[in-house]
Amino acid sequence: MNLVDAYAAMKPKEPLRHFQFELRDLTATDVQIEVFYCGICHSDIHQVRDEWSPGIFPMVPGHEITGKVTKVGSAVNKFKVGDTVGVGCMINSCKDCSSCSENLEQYCEKGATLTYNDKFRDTGLPIYGGYAKHVVVNEDFVLRIPSNLPLDKAAPLLCAGITTYSPLSNWKVTKGNRVGVIGMGGLGHMAVKIAVAMGADVFVISHSENKKEDAKKFGAKGYINSTISEQMQKEMNTFDFIVNTVSANLDLTNFLFLLKRDGTMVQVGAPDKPNTLNMFSMIIKRRRLAGSLIGGIKETQEMLDFCGKHNITAEVEVISAEKINEAYERVVKSDVKYRFVIDLKSF
Ligand code: NAP
Ligand code: ZN
Repeated sequence: MNLVDAYAAMKPKEPLRHFQFELRDLTATDVQIEVFYCGICHSDIHQVRDEWSPGIFPMVPGHEITGKVTKVGSAVNKFKVGDTVGVGCMINSCKDCSSCSENLEQYCEKGATLTYNDKFRDTGLPIYGGYAKHVVVNEDFVLRIPSNLPLDKAAPLLCAGITTYSPLSNWKVTKGNRVGVIGMGGLGHMAVKIAVAMGADVFVISHSENKKEDAKKFGAKGYINSTISEQMQKEMNTFDFIVNTVSANLDLTNFLFLLKRDGTMVQVGAPDKPNTLNMFSMIIKRRRLAGSLIGGIKETQEMLDFCGKHNITAEVEVISAEKINEAYERVVKSDVKYRFVIDLKSF
């Protein structure tokens, strides 16, 4: 038996603890990866705590994975043993529908197979994520990590990186655009670094004063404390584009007022409770509100190569397995600078 050491929540809302499971046998097109590092995304916490919908338990979370290929299926031709790779939020999709055909597997019409909290389509068995020593992934969903990026700091790119790169790229953020980033946590700090590298003038819109110096260090031109109404009012009608990364529900009205005419706000934060807004904040000045889900595989590779070129990685606090539960509490309190990453050697 091929038992894998992992950390799992056995039931919703329970602390995570050591857990072992039998690794799936490789199909011809599967790649087996030894996980070196795995980021802690707020989505892991939402799912372990059943905040979105009833999850599949025991749950081994983790979808910000970096490591090395240890085994390949007989028909795998993109990767070989020893390659340095990454895995994000998906491990397969139908590869046939209109979305998959447009390299938008995250919107697969049959539902992409997620890295955890999902079931393998062929066996019906539960899928365990990256808080585990090994994962098995379809080769088309394995990414290459640029050689200049350290694997601990690169892990968060696989979700936080692509989730913010995708809307910035899709809405064609470019040099000179005034871009706002609401919430500077794991996703938010990646949004700042990536938008700065795209040439935008970036402003962090945070609900505290705590991150002002860091925002500047990441290249932001300005900082707005959203709890101080004078600061919000002063910036009304000034932004081309805003990305909202906040994990909690907000009233979006005053944030939408920050946009210029025809400006767009993209929601990537996925709170369990609904956001609210006064519709006049959109009607006046023809503003738009949109959503965005991670990114496709081709785009994820493009993002990794972009980050390689610009030397962009996450700010991380590397932790051992026994600190996972404490890290969850700190993430919920916005007390993370800016991503916890689990060192799998500690399992
Ligand atoms: P995170 O590290 O916890 O960051 C969230 C940030 O939101 C905090 O650092 C804080 O920033 C702000 N915030 C938190 N509570 C707040 C409150 N009550 N009022 C105002 N601001 C608050 O989380 P993350 O990992 O970046 O994830 C953020 C959200 O994106 C989560 O809901 C996650 O599930 C979702 N997500 C979505 C996708 C997608 O594909 N759309 C992918 C990944 C994650 P400040 O301290 O700067 O205010
Ligand atoms: Zn994530």
